[in-house]
Amino acid sequence: MKAAPFEYTRAASVGEACELLRRHGDAAKLVAGGQSLVPMMAMRLVRPAWLIDINEIAALKFVSLEKDAARTGACTRQCAVERDQALAARVPLLAQALAWVGHVQTRNRGTVGGSLAHADPCAELPLVAQVLGARMLLRSGSGARTLAAEKFFAGPMATAARPEECLEEIHWPIWPEKRTGSAFAEISVRHGDFAMVAAAAQVALDDKGRCARAAFGLGGVGGTPLAFPKIAARLVGTKLDEATMQEAANAASAECEPGSDLHASAEYRRHLAGVLAARALRGAYENAHEKAKISV
Ligand SMILES: Cc1cc2nc3c(=O)[nH]c(=O)nc-3n(C[C@H](O)[C@H](O)[C@H](O)COP(=O)(O)OP(=O)(O)OC[C@H]3O[C@@H](n4cnc5c(N)ncnc54)[C@H](O)[C@@H]3O)c2cc1C
Repeated sequence: MKAAPFEYTRAASVGEACELLRRHGDAAKLVAGGQSLVPMMAMRLVRPAWLIDINEIAALKFVSLEKDAARTGACTRQCAVERDQALAARVPLLAQALAWVGHVQTRNRGTVGGSLAHADPCAELPLVAQVLGARMLLRSGSGARTLAAEKFFAGPMATAARPEECLEEIHWPIWPEKRTGSAFAEISVRHGDFAMVAAAAQVALDDKGRCARAAFGLGGVGGTPLAFPKIAARLVGTKLDEATMQEAANAASAECEPGSDLHASAEYRRHLAGVLAARALRGAYENAHEKAKISV
């Protein structure tokens, strides 16, 4: 199918994009990489009367490393984030997750902000944002506000961003602990497809090899990506042995609310949630352990 007729305009600045959003309201959509929006328009699942192209806005394309957080401009291409070695050293989950996002071709066009704003509950970057507690800077004609990931993701393909707001940048927390490791695990029908279930984990070890900090979450098993801070907190102080990690993974799997579709039943997704959460936690632990070079 072809998209319904629409008007196209290119914004030269964030201010201009915000003004166009204000002027056209619900009838307008920003287009970034177009890797989700354009297929949806072609299938007539969305019919914006106005398409506001933000690809030319240089201020939306950057990676900046600060003491506590990495900042990425919303229109930074996924491939640029994936290949940024300095960023990978500070927020490794991003590159680990991006290896699962679509294909080289889609990552060359797709943007970080587009993926977050699209808010597919099976998508990898929203899961990383939820697990790390990323913060989204949203701008409109009347100012800017910041939303934590847990407030930003509002439901399947829905965010708390208002129609007149442009996602401007994302702040990804950098863990200060030296012995920090992370891992991403996923099952999909074919590599490059959206995840059937995905899991992301990050742990930090103390100088005795015990868990000093932990965060993990699951995608594809609820209306939004899910993080489990209370379960993760129970890991702190433990040796992160196999039984402890599996117990945490099982507790998370019991909390999620997977649905059924033609790819998998809810029951199978719940099973995968337990398997993949444990796999991600184990991977993160091994990664941290390798960095720490601690013998247990
Ligand atoms: C073949 C194929 C396979 C794919 N596989 C995966 C996969 O495995 N995992 C995965 O996560 N994704 C996958 N994708 C989607 C891809 O990651 C998209 O790049 C991403 O979902 C959207 O990013 P985009 O920049 O293309 O956004 P667009 O498609 O341009 O926009 C998506 C939505 O976000 C809004 N938006 C974009 N930028 C902003 C902004 N700055 N502020 C506010 N709203 C904004 C748009 O208005 C639109 O509603 C796949 C895509 C294709 C074509």
